[in-house]
Amino acid sequence: MSDCIFCKIINGEIPSAKVFENDDVLAFLDISQVTKGHTLVIPKIHKEDVFDLDTETAEKLFSVVPAISRALRSEFDLKGLNMINNNGSFAGQEVFHYHLHLVPRYDEKDGIQKKFISHQAEYTPDDLQQIASAINQAIQI
Ligand code: AMP
Ligand code: ZN
Repeated sequence: MSDCIFCKIINGEIPSAKVFENDDVLAFLDISQVTKGHTLVIPKIHKEDVFDLDTETAEKLFSVVPAISRALRSEFDLKGLNMINNNGSFAGQEVFHYHLHLVPRYDEKDGIQKKFISHQAEYTPDDLQQIASAINQAIQI
């Protein structure tokens, strides 16, 4: 897509610090470096978000994620790694070309916080079964 910043990175119109590249996938350092080594993994084909991602593209993308993650672990003294993917502006997506953030974790004061607020008390086991069943019936593979 001509006005997509990540397509421009793929095409070499905008510089990037490349971590990995093959025919289908590019991984490069996120310019914000939330933590050292913060990497974005993107498909070379323009797909907006996870809803737009087809199975084959997803397979190609995720097939390189473990190796890149292990490389981050071997290169840096990390204690963990968060994989984050924002889909839609409401969910915080700012660049509308699918990307998976790999964010190495070093200590409590690094640039990222996990905050999940549990609503477990509001759902019975039956509620969970009904929700799961509805999702299951909607899946189209
Ligand atoms: P998101 O909020 O999930 O859409 O994340 C978009 C990410 O793209 C942000 O973390 C930005 O720092 C990153 N980003 C934007 N422009 C560039 C660029 N030219 N090179 C590297 N990363 C970029
Ligand atoms: Zn694009």
